[in-house]
Amino acid sequence: MLEPAIHEAVRKELVAAIGGSKVLWMKSDLLPYTKDTYRIRFEDEYKYFPDFVVLPESTSEVQSVVKIASSKKIPLIPKGGGSNRTGMLVPVYGGIVVDTIRMNRVIEVDVANLHVTVQTGITLKELEDRLAEHRLWLTQEQGSLRVATVGGSISTSGFSRRNNKYGTIADRVMSLEVVLADGSILRTGPKVLYTSTGYRLHQLFIGSEGTLGVITEATLRVEPIPEAREVVLSFYSDFWTAMAAAQRLMASGIGYSGAEAYEASDMDELGAPKGLKALLYVILDGTKGEVEAQADSVKKFVAGTGGILGAHDVAMSFLTRYVEQWCGARALTGFEDVITCYVPMEHMREFYDKLWNDIGPRHGIEPLSGEKFSLDAGRYKMAGGRYWLPKGEQAWEKYQKVLREIAGLATRLGGSVQSCHGIGIQHRDNLDLEYSEVALETMRRIKDTFDPQNIMNPGKKLPARK
Ligand SMILES: Cc1cc2nc3c(=O)[nH]c(=O)nc-3n(C[C@H](O)[C@H](O)[C@H](O)COP(=O)(O)OP(=O)(O)OC[C@H]3O[C@@H](n4cnc5c(N)ncnc54)[C@H](O)[C@@H]3O)c2cc1C
Repeated sequence: MLEPAIHEAVRKELVAAIGGSKVLWMKSDLLPYTKDTYRIRFEDEYKYFPDFVVLPESTSEVQSVVKIASSKKIPLIPKGGGSNRTGMLVPVYGGIVVDTIRMNRVIEVDVANLHVTVQTGITLKELEDRLAEHRLWLTQEQGSLRVATVGGSISTSGFSRRNNKYGTIADRVMSLEVVLADGSILRTGPKVLYTSTGYRLHQLFIGSEGTLGVITEATLRVEPIPEAREVVLSFYSDFWTAMAAAQRLMASGIGYSGAEAYEASDMDELGAPKGLKALLYVILDGTKGEVEAQADSVKKFVAGTGGILGAHDVAMSFLTRYVEQWCGARALTGFEDVITCYVPMEHMREFYDKLWNDIGPRHGIEPLSGEKFSLDAGRYKMAGGRYWLPKGEQAWEKYQKVLREIAGLATRLGGSVQSCHGIGIQHRDNLDLEYSEVALETMRRIKDTFDPQNIMNPGKKLPARK
């Protein structure tokens, strides 16, 4: 926390710059900003308070705040919906949280050129609702879509389950407006999707976790809302059979929007015949004719891979369940964690075998029922599983060991520590397993260029220099 005299001086400056109603400093107001959905070490709960929270409404207000912070080397933590899972928002060095909640305007919908420009505090759901008025959509279907913001999704390189056809937010960003750490305003390039001029500066901000600047505006590519949508749900005896089917689907050439195979605990509810343990769902969209033809192909494919088709109405409600439920409360309990590694397909079985038959039992971690295995069968082939966090006195140390072992396993098999939940503080010190020191140092130098005083979300994303 800042010294009382400096704190008071900064408070006055912030209030003069953006108005008293947009600055919080009472401890009770700061409490919700001490953590996010990451389970912080128990003894550190409520230890890290920010000095201030600001609620700007415009780029120029963000700029004023950043200039004040920069002049006094005060850390700045940009915040979206607060739904990240890796401690990206924990104010480990105090400072000013820039909560973008009031920066939720749609600035321009360009129907002819298929793009939208927004302030980045708008949630993905609000944006989809606004785009629907123009028969357009963003396609970024995250499970956290009701809470996650455009800025948060860009800054975590958010995963969308429709990635097979549309990619993710990383493929949607055309241009960004960013308030840099010295208060200058960067426009990363023209509002075009394809150009061969300049360096692709906007790419640097995708997955940057608030460490390079505050993204205030984003221009994103959008798509026409498809005429028809469909889901084909099928059941398999176990995850490995479903996974083999998913692998064949990926190589089949059938056009689909997204697909996932996983071991499920609610198979009865979904109408699966007794004894079957895993499912594969395939999402389709396009014109009515296209979707009918694709659905036909997928159904034939299911029959040919030993699957049993689920009922159509169950399949369709399944489609909405994923995004209509916000399970934030569950994430906030801090009893469980989720793995979202990338592991090459040929090593998937070995990965899960070591995870659940070696690492898990050795450290006393157990998978959540029905969430032991999953595979995104789209472009990204992300593997995942949920587990209960270890309990007991040594829980924290155990947890760190588990994380490092899982990271070691995924990287040894040629994969990546995290597919979609970013690094934050959770995985920061395991990045040496994935990147060489030269690569890490190159990243640190990029950070130095954008933020020489290291005030942008310090202590996150990159391991410290040795
Ligand atoms: C139940 C549940 C389901 C989830 N499902 C998915 C899923 O399907 N796909 C997926 O990818 N993730 C998922 N997540 C994780 C999380 O929702 C995403 O990481 C999300 O993109 C974070 O967005 P946010 O607005 O909540 O960001 P926050 O948590 O507020 O911030 C995340 C990071 O972005 C930075 N940031 C935020 N806004 C800005 C800005 N304007 N400028 C600069 N930096 C900024 C912050 O500093 C921080 O480092 C899920 C989480 C939960 C709890």
